[in-house]
Amino acid sequence: MTERFDGGVVSEWASCVREDNPGHMTLDGTNTWILRAPDEQGRASGARSIVVDPGELDEPHLRRVLEMAAPVAVVLLTHRHHDHTEGAERFAELAAAPVRAVDPALCLDADPLVDGETIEVDGVRLEVLASPGHTTDSVSFLLRDDAALLSGDTVLGRGTTVVAHPDGALGPYLDSLRTLRAAVDSVEGTVRLYPGHGPVLADAGAVIDGYLAHREERLTQVREALDAGAESADDVVRTVYADVDPILWPAATLSVRAQLEYLRTT
Ligand SMILES: [Zn+2]
Repeated sequence: MTERFDGGVVSEWASCVREDNPGHMTLDGTNTWILRAPDEQGRASGARSIVVDPGELDEPHLRRVLEMAAPVAVVLLTHRHHDHTEGAERFAELAAAPVRAVDPALCLDADPLVDGETIEVDGVRLEVLASPGHTTDSVSFLLRDDAALLSGDTVLGRGTTVVAHPDGALGPYLDSLRTLRAAVDSVEGTVRLYPGHGPVLADAGAVIDGYLAHREERLTQVREALDAGAESADDVVRTVYADVDPILWPAATLSVRAQLEYLRTT
């Protein structure tokens, strides 16, 4: 078992408050990211922050985040799942800050995020990269000055992510991984991964390559299972995900449905 990730100061630019909501899907808990420009001395300045994914409606967590993040310029959401967004409205109220997401329904007093846009707040420049697949509204953020990629649930700090069919889809997901790989390649030096769950990883590019290889491998296995007579998503899960804890099979079934859909349409 990998060491648990507890958050804390991760770089001159980024801190993480890990919510205490561990689970099969949330790993150690949801990572709430606080981004702020360092001052000349490299210490956190009085500048405003950007908060990414406030997490669930969990008052003690939201207050811990606010303590570290205030003053907050804007709250960003990586995707619509409740472990990232449920507390957004309450946090926005506490911080008196607007909320932005790809899905207009999640925005508060601000416009939806646009692919390719750069968000600038008191010295922090964050590049918005649409990365649909885990969900249709998933988005990642490149913090070029910190050589870091905030990947939400598109790429996790441990294990692999679920392509949550029918909201999620595999074709867009594979395209998104390639988009993120290209973004990482455009940065000088090695880019670290700041995921939505699990620990910071040293080499985002290598992790993304691993994800692409894993998806290819699973697709091959699904094709083989179909050739061998598997007739339903459940049949495929029992064969292909035999190496995975059965407690994760319901999640695996969502990914298999996405894979079957992908194979039907490509
Ligand atoms: Zn999540």
